[in-house]
Amino acid sequence: MKNTKKIPETYPCKECLAGVVRPQYITYFTWLNNELITVPNFPAWICDLCGKREYDQRAISWLTTLLEPDAGKSSKSNQKPHPYQRSADSISPAVK
Ligand SMILES: [Zn+2]
Repeated sequence: MKNTKKIPETYPCKECLAGVVRPQYITYFTWLNNELITVPNFPAWICDLCGKREYDQRAISWLTTLLEPDAGKSSKSNQKPHPYQRSADSISPAVK
């Protein structure tokens, strides 16, 4: 009886050889120039024992494609202000 319908989404960890690597959605952090980019709900495989992370290659290439146009522009020195400072006056403090 063939049971090829279910694709295994977990696999034994190559790093510690004892843990199980499971797909999870994490917040991916990466640096682009001097800006910290956070990508929520980023697919990753994480070992439940040693915590080794493997990222989805399609997601990585998607992210690279997203970031590449901006990275190409950074050849000239663009000293733009920090994005948090720029939007500072549009954020009114919620202290009452
Ligand atoms: Zn492991």
